[in-house]
Amino acid sequence: MKTPRIEINLGEIAHNAKKLKELYGSKGIDVIGVTKVVCGDSAIADVLVKSGINILADSRIENIIKMHNAGIHAKFLLLRTPLSQSESVVKYADISLNSELSVIKELSKYAEEQGVIHEIILMVELGDLREGIMPSDLENTVNEVIGLKGIKLTGIGTNLACFGGIKPNDEKMEYLSSIAKDIEDKFKLKLKIVSGGNSANYDWFMITKDVGKINNLRLGESIFLGCETLERKTIDGLFTDIFTLIAEVIESKTKPSLPYGDIGQDAFGNIPKFPDLGLMRRVILGVGLQDVLVSGLTPLSNIDILGASSDHIIINAKQSEIKVGDTIKFNLNYGALLSAMTSPYIIKIYK
Ligand SMILES: *Cc1c(COP(=O)(O)O)cnc(C)c1O
Repeated sequence: MKTPRIEINLGEIAHNAKKLKELYGSKGIDVIGVTKVVCGDSAIADVLVKSGINILADSRIENIIKMHNAGIHAKFLLLRTPLSQSESVVKYADISLNSELSVIKELSKYAEEQGVIHEIILMVELGDLREGIMPSDLENTVNEVIGLKGIKLTGIGTNLACFGGIKPNDEKMEYLSSIAKDIEDKFKLKLKIVSGGNSANYDWFMITKDVGKINNLRLGESIFLGCETLERKTIDGLFTDIFTLIAEVIESKTKPSLPYGDIGQDAFGNIPKFPDLGLMRRVILGVGLQDVLVSGLTPLSNIDILGASSDHIIINAKQSEIKVGDTIKFNLNYGALLSAMTSPYIIKIYK
């Protein structure tokens, strides 16, 4: 079989998705499946939908169009606020997260033109300092948004633990709930969705006595890697080995551990430093930084990654007998998975 390839266990994805839906559902929280880390892969999207997840979210409109064209029957949500893509966002996404009035006006223009209603979730800044309207500006924005044609204010949301590393805790979630309540009271409307965050909300969810008005989370990493994301602890009963990267050995030789000759920069502009461990069994794999974030790979056998260049990973084989043509398997973290699923060089195999 060809390499490099990533093997994807669809049954385990279904298991994780169902378990998380059940867990969060036990306190009235609905799960949106976030497909960006798998690059909107339609075989995976199909599994999520069949596992009972009926809204799929992606940060890229291209991925949403891909899933739409593959006939995936779900509501689609765009995670990253759109601007120049507004026309196709209105066409292909049912809902989008937004934080700028000027963008929402663009969406309104195209929604009117296309004769559709585009739903929006207003993102509220709660301290992580990526996207979001400052709470003090929210009422003004809502006031403008509810007057726009072709736009329906479906909810509010927040995103934590992505840029600033700020934890979603009771204080932040109660604040979001109170903001939702104020908006509902003031404007006499019902917010269908109050979206409290992402895979980092797990600890809050497990500990909290009252989820308040939070009725939605947007989950990617928990579904695909089986962990929460504040400390990357495994969530009980979930699979953590759904994806496996497999690469082939293209050279295997005993060589010195210390490069010899005059030292200059390596392929990426660094001056490399290596310890002298004497002779070692060095193995080269036919996969590199153009394929995958190598620092996010963990070998499934007792070998060490020494480093990588664009097209090669260099391995210390230690005591393992490894010959040319053998394959080496790796587990992937979020960054490695994101890059491998996006890479056109890595074959996707479904099991
Ligand atoms: C990526 C993303 C998510 C999902 O995050 P995970 O950590 O994969 O659960 C949720 N919301 C937004 C806005 C995102 O960009």
